[in-house]
Amino acid sequence: MQININDLSKIYPNGKKALNNINLEIGNGMFGLLGPNGAGKSSLMRILVTLMEPSTGTASFNSFDLHRDRKEIRSILGYLPQDFRFFSKLKTWEFLDYAASLAGIRSKQMRKNKVDEWLEKVGLFDVRERDANKLSGGMKRRLGIAQTLIGDPKIIIVDEPTTGLDPEERIRFRNILSEISQQDVSIILSTHIVGDISSVCNNLALLNNGELAFKGTPEALIEKA
Ligand code: ADP
Ligand code: ADP
Repeated sequence: MQININDLSKIYPNGKKALNNINLEIGNGMFGLLGPNGAGKSSLMRILVTLMEPSTGTASFNSFDLHRDRKEIRSILGYLPQDFRFFSKLKTWEFLDYAASLAGIRSKQMRKNKVDEWLEKVGLFDVRERDANKLSGGMKRRLGIAQTLIGDPKIIIVDEPTTGLDPEERIRFRNILSEISQQDVSIILSTHIVGDISSVCNNLALLNNGELAFKGTPEALIEKA
């Protein structure tokens, strides 16, 4: 994927300027979006996942335009918000089966294969019959990861990727993402903790107070600091 963000700004109705004229190019692989709380990361993510309109500017995903092709963009998008929660009474496997059907996998057998594959990948196969909302915090986060990735999205956006995961789970998640990032996929990891992503991202951007303060490699950022 090639994501181009052009002159994107967001001013909230109360006058708060959350993003000021952001320009970014994001290619395949893992991209880090860094910044302290209030920098504008969530605002930028909400715009990219088509949940919120920018005030001015646009973005493109290969040939898809943010304003014109919402439906197409949503169909290739996997978004894991920080506070992903389960309100349903579905079992763990049923939850993933539902996610797979939303992602357009019509064949029941194909869904079963996918669901089993992802239950294994995130280490939830043994608890597949348990109600999703009765899983532990780390397990819920892993289920969130599986439901985000089960439809083979081409654009993956994860907010605070390490939240709720213990060190072992973090390594597992990182390995899953690095495997996926070998394909024609763009992964955006958003965080306020530099150490979370600097070792896995080939490129990153630093937002500060709605401004793009830096873009480049992690090495260049460390040199600058
Ligand atoms: P981050 O995700 O980096 O913490 P946000 O995008 O959430 O940053 O917020 C950027 C700025 O915009 C902050 O000052 C925040 O208070 C403000 N903000 C976020 N959402 C709204 C909103 N709906 N209305 C007004 N201001 C908002
Ligand atoms: P996060 O940065 O964790 O994603 P939010 O984007 O929900 O959190 O909110 C970030 C900040 O923006 C909060 O501190 C909140 O006070 C402020 N904010 C959110 N919504 C509004 C709003 N409608 N009006 C004013 N400020 C808001």
